[in-house]
Amino acid sequence: MTQQQAEVHDAGSVQPHDRLGRPLRDLRISVTDRCNFRCRYCMPREVFGSDWEFLPRDEILSFEEIARLSRIFAAQGVRKLRLTGGEPLLRSGLPALVRMLRAIDGVDIALTTNGSLLTAQASALASAGLRRITVSLDSLDDTVFRSMNDAGFGVDRVLEGIAACSAAGLPVKINCVVKRGVNEHTVVELARWARERGHILRFIEYMDVGHSNGWRLDDVVPGAEIVHRISTEMPLEPVDPNYRGEVARRWRYSGGSGEIGVITSVTQPFCGDCTRARLSADGKLYTCLFAAQGTDMRARVRDGSSDDSIAAIVREVWLAREDRYSELRSAATDGLDKKVEMSYIGG
Ligand code: SAM
Ligand code: SF4
Ligand code: SF4
Repeated sequence: MTQQQAEVHDAGSVQPHDRLGRPLRDLRISVTDRCNFRCRYCMPREVFGSDWEFLPRDEILSFEEIARLSRIFAAQGVRKLRLTGGEPLLRSGLPALVRMLRAIDGVDIALTTNGSLLTAQASALASAGLRRITVSLDSLDDTVFRSMNDAGFGVDRVLEGIAACSAAGLPVKINCVVKRGVNEHTVVELARWARERGHILRFIEYMDVGHSNGWRLDDVVPGAEIVHRISTEMPLEPVDPNYRGEVARRWRYSGGSGEIGVITSVTQPFCGDCTRARLSADGKLYTCLFAAQGTDMRARVRDGSSDDSIAAIVREVWLAREDRYSELRSAATDGLDKKVEMSYIGG
């Protein structure tokens, strides 16, 4: 390990930094590879049809295994755990996992969901100790929303779920993926709605994750264009980042409350500040959303390995990391043909 690759932190242990000097700060945990939506940009129906083989139950990490790995990652510097999927609320008993993770000192717990099952679960999640939640909501227009999720879910159901979170005291952040010609004309309406309700809103550029969404650069609406569109109606001014590794470029409404962010992974990649690792539902550790291969942590968790030896693997993987796919996108896209799917690795 080089001097630049290590940093002594408050507790006295040495935190790993990767080859590009980035610390390990965030862990996104996919709790299931299944989903009740078939968003065309993520799990298109033609690919994820009735014959798609999802992971069998025994290959998926148990809550105890997730909690153990989370503790090990926290000891290596992880400060934020985000539960994702697939659709995380399809994993039964999820509040119990939240409760287990809450017991880990010094970590913040977040959850990203499509919101379709929130009405029934918001209060249990809040009681389990979840402090905030991110809901993906691509449009308030019911026709546009249904065409994007391609599973017959109306937008009202998600709006009810969001209201249930507010009633349970859970602040809601909204994620919206913008696709050219599909929902770009509804972004101003969404921004106004989020502003009126005090929700932070993040617009995400449509990314070339996996192989099934038929991504084309022409379908990407650049973040700058989204900001311009909104600013024309409700003037915006830039905000400085909160912390290193914050992926959203933030803008606040001039002369009033509220802000939006744009996640410009295609037009202005931020790999230099990427501090995220990802754990798939079957326990593979990935160091990039666009990675082709992961490291099997489940095997170690199930073969009697000690926490120390698992921590050593985490460190080894992170110290060797040099991923910066988005920055290399144009050169690399042609050569990579084994990227994993977003629903598997967790967005
Ligand atoms: N099912 C949950 C949901 O939709 O919020 C959690 C998992 S989903 C994979 C996590 C996030 O990834 C969502 O906000 C989704 O919109 C985003 N996402 C999925 N595919 C994407 C793509 N091709 N480009 C950009 N964002 C994408
Ligand atoms: Fe499911 Fe989320 Fe992917 Fe949509 S983005 S298909 S809701 S995992
Ligand atoms: Fe991080 Fe990989 Fe995305 Fe770059 S492309 S920001 S390294 S996940």
